Amino acid sequence: MGIRRFKTLKPRNPCPECGNATIFRGRSEQVQEDLCEVWVECDCGHNPFEGKSEHCIESVWGSLDEGFLLMALAEWDELTEAA
Ligand SMILES: [Zn+2]
Repeated sequence: MGIRRFKTLKPRNPCPECGNATIFRGRSEQVQEDLCEVWVECDCGHNPFEGKSEHCIESVWGSLDEGFLLMALAEWDELTEAA
């Protein structure tokens, strides 16, 4: 539904595929009539949220504003910690 490429102010956990830690793509997708899921993926396309939608941020409009991106980045750090 939506995509927004952005650069983080401080590095996050590096992508396990390419090592990138600052350039991400915010993504949002409508999953129900009034519910969207927001997540981030690496600029290389690596998406640790794949198959782990419980880590996605729930949002009514699926907007990719800074607040949602920061929440999704916190989940990115958690998901890539275990990797
Ligand atoms: Zn990557």
